[in-house]
Amino acid sequence: MNVDLIIKSKWIAPVDSKESLIIDHAIVINNKKIVALCPHKEATDKFITSNIIELDNHILIPGLINAHCHAPMTLLRGIADDLPLEDWLNKKIWPLEEKFISQEFVEDGAELAIAEMILSGTTCFADMYFYPDCVAKKAIDSNMRVQLACPVLDFPTIWAQSADEYIQKTITIHDNYRNSELISVAFGPHAPYTVSDAPLKKIGALAEELDIPIHIHVHETEKEISDSMKEFGCRPLRRLSNLRLVSPRLNCVHATQLNEGEIELIAESGSNIVHCPASNMKLASGICNVSHLIKNDTNVCLGTDGAASNNELNLLKEARLASLLAKISSQDASSLPAHKTLEVMTINGARALGLEASIGSLEVGKLADITAISFEAVNTMPVNNPLSQVVYSANSTQVTHVWIGGRMVLRDRSLETIDMNAIKDKAKCWQHRFEQG
Ligand SMILES: [Zn+2]
Repeated sequence: MNVDLIIKSKWIAPVDSKESLIIDHAIVINNKKIVALCPHKEATDKFITSNIIELDNHILIPGLINAHCHAPMTLLRGIADDLPLEDWLNKKIWPLEEKFISQEFVEDGAELAIAEMILSGTTCFADMYFYPDCVAKKAIDSNMRVQLACPVLDFPTIWAQSADEYIQKTITIHDNYRNSELISVAFGPHAPYTVSDAPLKKIGALAEELDIPIHIHVHETEKEISDSMKEFGCRPLRRLSNLRLVSPRLNCVHATQLNEGEIELIAESGSNIVHCPASNMKLASGICNVSHLIKNDTNVCLGTDGAASNNELNLLKEARLASLLAKISSQDASSLPAHKTLEVMTINGARALGLEASIGSLEVGKLADITAISFEAVNTMPVNNPLSQVVYSANSTQVTHVWIGGRMVLRDRSLETIDMNAIKDKAKCWQHRFEQG
C-alpha cells in the first residue's frame, strides 16, 4: 500500500486507554490520518513511501491541545503585569484593547501566537477573541487547528453592539466553517458577570441545537462569587445551572473557587474544567482543585489563557505547573502523575472541545496531529522514564517536529507554514505603536 508518510520513533506515547508506551514503532500516515502504528520493520515491509522520517532519540505524543487562549493578546505580553484580575482587566487590558484593536491587530497577534504554540508542540487551541474570522484566517494559513469560542458580552465592543449581535455573528461563523477541517466553533460568553440571563439562556438552547460547546470564564476569583451573591443571590455556577447551561458541552475556564456541592454538580453534569494554572497564579486568582475533580471523574484539560496573563503559550510548561500545583495544593505527591498529566494535555482537551473522535490520541483512524520531542538534551538524560521526561524535564525547545493533519508544520525547529522574520517585524512594529501611545 502506498502511503504519504512513515515516522519511525524510539518511543511513542499514544495516550490510549491502556496508558501504553511503545518502543521502536512507527506511525504510518495517509490522507491526513493515522493508518497504522506498528514496529519499524513492519511499517517499511507493508507500506511504500519515499517520505520516511527517522527520530532516533525522540518520543511522539499527540499534538498538545491548548483549551483556552486569547491568541491576539500575545501582542499585549508584559504590558500589564503584577495586578489582580479586576485591575488588570479594567485599568489596563480593556482600555488598551479599546485603543488598539483592529483586524490587523487580531491577525498579527494570532499569527505570533500560532508560531509560539507550534514551536512548543501545540496543534490545536480554543480561542476567545474579537474578529474570530481573522484568527481563523491565520490558522488556515499556518495549517493550525482552532476552535473559535466566539465572544458574547452584554456591552458593545468593536466587534458587535449587543448580546444578540454577538450571538448572530457566532451563528454566521459557525455556518461559514461548517465544512472546515481545521476550524470549529463554540459559543464564548465571556463570564457570568459580563453576560445577563436572557443571552445566556439563548446560548444554552442554540448550543444544543448546533451541537457545539459553550466556553466561559467561571468562578475565576473570590470577588466574582461575592459579587454574584449580591446581584443574583446565588453563586455563578448555580446561576448557570438554573439557566440550564451546566452540561457536557460546558467548558468552565479557571474554576478556582469550587465548593463540595459544585464539584459534585460538575461531576454529575459531565461539564469540563479548563485549568489555567499560570494565569491563576499570576493574577493571584486562586487554585483549581484539580486532584479532587479528577478523583470525581471530571474531565480536566489545560489552557494557557492569553499571553497578557501568563506570559507564555507553552503547554509543556503549563502541564508541569499543573502537576506540581496539584501535588502541593492537595498535599499529595501522587496527584496528577506524568501519564495523567499527558491525558490532561491531549485527549482531555479534545474531549472538552468535542473533537475526541478525530484528535487527542495517536490511534488508527484519527487525524495525524503529532508532536515529536527530542531527549537529546542534558536535562532529559538519561531517559529512565520517557513520560516523566516529557512532563517533568523537557523544555519546549526540545520539540523538534510537529504535524497537523499529517502535514509537517515544524521541521527540526523550523516553521514550515509561517514566515518567522515577518512575524518578528510585525511584533516590533506593534511594540513601537504601544510606545507611541
Ligand atoms: Zn481567559
